[in-house]
Amino acid sequence: MQLYCWGTFRDGLIIIRIAEKKGYALLVTLKEVLDNARSGCYAVPAFDCSEDVMVRAILEAAEANRAPVILMCLQMQLEGNGWVYLPGLIKAVADHHKIPIVMHLDHADGIEPVRKAVDLGFTSVMIDGSRLPFEENVAITRAVVDIAHRHGVSVEGELGHVGGMDLEDKEHFDSVLTEADEVKRFVELTDVDALAVSIGTGHGVYRARPTLNIARLKELNAASSAPLVLHGGSQTPDDQIQDAVRNGICKLNIFADQRLAMFRGLKRSAMQDRTDPLPHELFGPIKQELAALVAEKIELLYAKNKADEFTKQSLCQD
Ligand SMILES: [Zn+2]
Repeated sequence: MQLYCWGTFRDGLIIIRIAEKKGYALLVTLKEVLDNARSGCYAVPAFDCSEDVMVRAILEAAEANRAPVILMCLQMQLEGNGWVYLPGLIKAVADHHKIPIVMHLDHADGIEPVRKAVDLGFTSVMIDGSRLPFEENVAITRAVVDIAHRHGVSVEGELGHVGGMDLEDKEHFDSVLTEADEVKRFVELTDVDALAVSIGTGHGVYRARPTLNIARLKELNAASSAPLVLHGGSQTPDDQIQDAVRNGICKLNIFADQRLAMFRGLKRSAMQDRTDPLPHELFGPIKQELAALVAEKIELLYAKNKADEFTKQSLCQD
């Protein structure tokens, strides 16, 4: 039996978990999967998840397609017991699924949620300083990197701003394209492991078809020593997504497409003849629609079967 140690140390508190290592670490970092994706010219799908049925459907579909996967928790959806339930569930099941899994905090807005995520065993965090002036964005991102890297946790920053609708569907924010001449300086000053860039996508459901600025992406990718991330990946035409992956996007964030898929499943569930459907009859169609979407995105991003390649390259340290 081989042992794998995993833990965090802060404020005199040490949490160490020792588990039987069955060829896989419990969770891997964003840096590990994205460095592999960059060298292999594919992207790792990143799914925001806020319910246990989502965690299960995503992990089972990713494992069936032998793909690495990033489970993201949005800070605002962790409030209250979310901080206990979601990371608790993901950590408990991660070792069961024989694929690389990253547990990532999405869109943290400050230091405190990052500290909390590090303590809870997240292997990656995103700090979103994209609406701040450049120097302030650098300062907060650098502060997060200093905390996270001490614990072996990866950090994603954002430069430029991916706008779109807020999650309550009330307010719209304009996008600001990322400038190539700022990228090199931002990555050097902050030491981020991944950089989210703005090249024409927006968060939420689109009102008009987006057009990605691939010429700009090429410049950004050439300027960045860190792998690039695309937010607002839902509903972007497949050919444009694949073009973006071929030109440097290594992580695609997907949330709105999941909501659309789950809503299709919910409508199917509501068609039951039975007045007291069993839980699997209620949640089954939702999970099926979500699993089909996950499989589709894995194929789209050239991530199918990459788990095996990744395992050989970086997880098998025996
Ligand atoms: Zn985002």
